[in-house]
Amino acid sequence: MTAGNSVSLLCKMSAPSITVVFPLLVVCWAFPQAGLPLWRSVGTISAWAGSALLVVSLVLMVRQPQLARLFGGLEFSYRWHHRSGLLAYVLLLMHPLALALDAWFEAPYLAWESLVPWAQSWPIWIGWIALLLLMFGLATTFALHLPYRRWRAFHLALGLGVLLGLVHSYVLLGTVDLILLLILVSSLALSWRWIASDLGVVAYPYQVTQVVRQVTGIIEILLTPSATALVLSPGQFLLVAFGDGGTYRGCGDYHPFSVSGINADGSLRLAIKALGPCTQRIQSIEPGVLVRLQGPFGNFLTEAQNKPQLWVAGGIGVTPFIAALRAHPRTQVTTLIYLFCSTAEAAFLHELTLLAQTDPKFELIPVETCKRLADFSSLLPQVEQLGAREVNICGPAPMVNALMPHLQRHGVASDAIHFERFDFR
Ligand SMILES: Cc1cc2nc3c(=O)[nH]c(=O)nc-3n(C[C@H](O)[C@H](O)[C@H](O)COP(=O)(O)OP(=O)(O)OC[C@H]3O[C@@H](n4cnc5c(N)ncnc54)[C@H](O)[C@@H]3O)c2cc1C
Repeated sequence: MTAGNSVSLLCKMSAPSITVVFPLLVVCWAFPQAGLPLWRSVGTISAWAGSALLVVSLVLMVRQPQLARLFGGLEFSYRWHHRSGLLAYVLLLMHPLALALDAWFEAPYLAWESLVPWAQSWPIWIGWIALLLLMFGLATTFALHLPYRRWRAFHLALGLGVLLGLVHSYVLLGTVDLILLLILVSSLALSWRWIASDLGVVAYPYQVTQVVRQVTGIIEILLTPSATALVLSPGQFLLVAFGDGGTYRGCGDYHPFSVSGINADGSLRLAIKALGPCTQRIQSIEPGVLVRLQGPFGNFLTEAQNKPQLWVAGGIGVTPFIAALRAHPRTQVTTLIYLFCSTAEAAFLHELTLLAQTDPKFELIPVETCKRLADFSSLLPQVEQLGAREVNICGPAPMVNALMPHLQRHGVASDAIHFERFDFR
């Protein structure tokens, strides 16, 4: 195993580790004193573990390039953000139920009184409101078909739920150092996410200096740094917010885009497909528009680059691959299976064809496959020594799902398969 691989393995361990270790430390610190009834102890432990997990979940949501790298990449860190948030909710729901069960053993009416809001004081109401906000935020998180903007607005309920939950503990327990620490870390994570990422205070200013219409519904833009240039590598992505130009009005909020080209002078290229309201509007962007960039994020195309490669791109998922091919000729045998709907909609097809003619180590297999899944059982046997290759896939989920069993059948190890998904939430 190379030093690079060990570092990436360590980073992949860090998000799961803090999800387990931090709540354990908090619970050890706050472990109920001996002699407390069983269900009261369960209620106390679940409250502390749940609160600690909520704090972990907030830290894993911060979009800061170094922090994201430390946690194994933004997408991986988001996966653990969701897991810790869900587990926190389950534990926090256990908290009032365990306390009610404890009261039940004293007298059943006490259990009822511990649950109904009108028998309670305002710090308990705050706890219930926090729990309801968490329930609402989580329910909408898993409603995959909600439009992105609405989903995001609903997701904010979770942040408010966490803060109210901590206020509930603070009011009930007083100025316990541990609660103050949890409140401090949560507030820092939320403020960093809002001020630095959502408002873009730490973003790099760039300007659109060229716009090229690639194919119908896809443009490629050249961005030139107005101050310091970002340092990034092919396969990485940026969060990009477009401002206003002479007649162009940008949508303002940050969207993720993989780089399609990185130039030695610090300028870079993005290829953008019209998908929803914002990317639709970007199709009419003009030179001179100011752009703000955050990143770089992601570690796609960084692993085992010293091995022969199989790349599979679906539609606009070709962007990381074209960036790598433009950066330098291939040093390892590389086959790109490029799936697209029709040649009129296949970005970079001409450039890729030329590259395949000039770079002896690069092979292109273009596949026109509109409205049906590609026939991988006839495509994969065309790739020589498939079992020895590192596989990198970038495309829609149905394509990835259809491809996986075929790769396994051809003996590709699961740790040799890597994805980039264009739809994380
Ligand atoms: C890592 C990554 C790399 C990407 N690279 C490219 C690329 O090179 N070229 C390209 O054309 N597209 C790329 N995309 C997809 C691109 O981000 C979406 O098409 C774009 O954000 C859609 O915005 P919209 O308002 O037009 O559409 P919407 O209808 O608002 O969104 C469509 C979908 O895009 C995603 N999305 C929208 N806004 C955001 C956001 N602010 N943050 C995260 N996801 C969001 C959501 O999954 C949403 O369901 C990439 C996405 C990701 C996650």
